[in-house]
Amino acid sequence: MRLDKFLAHMGFGTRKEVKILVKSKAIQINEVVVKDSSMHVNELSDQVSVYGEVVEYREFIYLMMNKPAGVVSATEDSRDQTVIDLLDEDVRHFAPYPVGRLDKDTVGLLVLTNDGALTHRLLSPNKDVPKVYYAKIEGIVTESDIQLFKEGVTLDDGYHTKPGLLSILSSGPVSEIELSITEGKFHQVKRMFEAVEKKVIYLKRLSMGALMLDESIQEGDYRELTEVEFMQLQ
Ligand code: URA
Repeated sequence: MRLDKFLAHMGFGTRKEVKILVKSKAIQINEVVVKDSSMHVNELSDQVSVYGEVVEYREFIYLMMNKPAGVVSATEDSRDQTVIDLLDEDVRHFAPYPVGRLDKDTVGLLVLTNDGALTHRLLSPNKDVPKVYYAKIEGIVTESDIQLFKEGVTLDDGYHTKPGLLSILSSGPVSEIELSITEGKFHQVKRMFEAVEKKVIYLKRLSMGALMLDESIQEGDYRELTEVEFMQLQ
């Protein structure tokens, strides 16, 4: 790839800014000073350095965020703060985006990446990746709701969902539940409870496939996935 693209991807600024670095003789490829920012570099075999520091190329980034309420899981929005606004510059230049959506008021596990193939695998409807949610529900959730969810419920638009695995953690005027579903329709958890005449008043995603939210990540914070967590998404 072109050297300026390589360095822009690694966070050394725009192509124009890379040109300035080249002009100031800051960049070397295989220990030879570069004179032209449009020259080609083999990201696997060439050694690129900036001011003497070797730049290790990487294409993809994988982040786990504990999404807070009040931000939208989009890359840009004209009104609201987005999850991308919560990222530091050192990861933002990889151009990550959220894998699927959580509602503005939903908190919890959100994976951000720039890996299109992984995103496709995780979101593909026929892959049936289970997503587990914790929710607080207005009203008493019953054994019959468990049964109804097991059979799938009919949403307000007539769509009949795939089975959901509902477990009741506590029952009362406000019940606590966990629900595992394999789909990701718009407002799906909220609409599944609407279908049994109950209201979700708090929603948190706990896991996606085998990947679980690291509860030590504060809401609004994020970190890179570990190797093991990355494998859990495969
Ligand atoms: N279901 C919802 O209703 N909202 C979410 O954010 C995720 C799943």
